[in-house]
Amino acid sequence: MKSPEQNKSFDADAIIIGAGPIGLMLANLLGERGVRTRVFDLRAKPLENSMAIGVTPPSMEILRRLGLDQTFREAGVTVRHAEVHESRKRLGRLDFAHLKSDYPFFLSIPQARTVEILFANLRKYSCVEVHPGVEFVGMQQDEHGVTVSIRTVATRDAFKVRSKFLVGCDGHRSAVRGAAGLTVTEKTYPQRFVMADFTDRTDLGSEARLFFAPEASVESFPLPGGWRRWIVLANDLGEELPEEYLVQTVKRLARYDLTEEPVRFVSTFGAKRMLVNHYHAGRVVLAGDAAHTMSSIGGQGMNTGFADAEMLAELLPGALQNPDSMERRFATYDRVRRTAYTAAADRAERGMWLGTMQGRLASLFRKHIIRDVLFSRFLERHLAPHFAMLTIPFCNLNNVPTEWLTIL
Ligand SMILES: Cc1cc2nc3c(=O)[nH]c(=O)nc-3n(C[C@H](O)[C@H](O)[C@H](O)COP(=O)(O)OP(=O)(O)OC[C@H]3O[C@@H](n4cnc5c(N)ncnc54)[C@H](O)[C@@H]3O)c2cc1C
Repeated sequence: MKSPEQNKSFDADAIIIGAGPIGLMLANLLGERGVRTRVFDLRAKPLENSMAIGVTPPSMEILRRLGLDQTFREAGVTVRHAEVHESRKRLGRLDFAHLKSDYPFFLSIPQARTVEILFANLRKYSCVEVHPGVEFVGMQQDEHGVTVSIRTVATRDAFKVRSKFLVGCDGHRSAVRGAAGLTVTEKTYPQRFVMADFTDRTDLGSEARLFFAPEASVESFPLPGGWRRWIVLANDLGEELPEEYLVQTVKRLARYDLTEEPVRFVSTFGAKRMLVNHYHAGRVVLAGDAAHTMSSIGGQGMNTGFADAEMLAELLPGALQNPDSMERRFATYDRVRRTAYTAAADRAERGMWLGTMQGRLASLFRKHIIRDVLFSRFLERHLAPHFAMLTIPFCNLNNVPTEWLTIL
């Protein structure tokens, strides 16, 4: 342990860059453990639009550690089943209600609300400070800590703050990753999608539904407050307006007419797979999209990041107590989280591949795989735990051997 004199020269034990879902989850988990933490985010205002909506049972268990599982449950929609259709014929039904979990559902909650709840909960921890509107611009590290350069977005005033550890939770373009010299391996997928949230006047209730057809695919998820998210494959979007394209595709494939429905958020996006070659460099470590991305079809990116945050919060206090154990702790973090990420990203890739194959032959092949293989008597009962991420290795700390975490 450092002497009190040495401690004084540090503004924090841990600085987190990024107050997205992963940075805020980590700040809460560190706050729970009494770690002096400061969070900086260049965003000055709350997030308005939401990419992620799906929260899986392993993430609900992490939220339970913070006493937030019930709050999340009340703020979201519990999706207990999902149906899969090909060319308007039902191929099968995924039933989450029988999952062996205290949370037998997929929670649908907009990312903006997730961030809002995690942010509000930080009031409980006097050891955590959040600074919105402050941008990370660089850092230098030495044997004892990291000196972080930041500046206020509004006035461009520059400051330096010193911390024992720096955690990059600053998303897929991570400036922390670049400043630490951490490199990535990545691949861009050709698929493009349009996504929009409409007022929900369908008969689908709290059901999620996937509609496949030879020419395209449509995914549909309930959202709280009477809204529903629609995602369509849009490789052929061309010059057409994304909202128009989505409405026409949904009408054709799913037989729901959204023409007159109020819409609140339209977005086009692609898919990329990216993983850092090392999760840490000295006293700098990454979590969430700063470390990895995967196809968002399957809704696993944020959930994988939550598990990163949970493990880091378990390992960091020990590294503060015993700096000699830091390398071993971070090496364990890298090994465990890399394994979990790889399993999730492989699944996301396979799922996207199956769901976006186009053409009549592809449609027949998909129909056969989904109906006769995935929903066969042998595999059907494994499907819901698979999609709920319960079978991802190390999906949360309950699934990591304790001896891996007690590193001296
Ligand atoms: C269309 C779509 C749908 C998705 N759906 C799901 C889903 O249903 N379930 C799921 O699990 N995942 C989903 N994902 C993935 C999910 O959105 C991400 O994995 C998640 O947002 C990652 O969170 P994060 O906190 O790591 O990064 P981000 O959400 O990107 O947050 C990073 C934060 O860092 C801040 N920042 C960036 N640079 C700096 C800087 N230099 N200085 C200070 N602050 C900085 C940003 O302002 C931001 O607040 C989806 C993704 C997409 C694209």
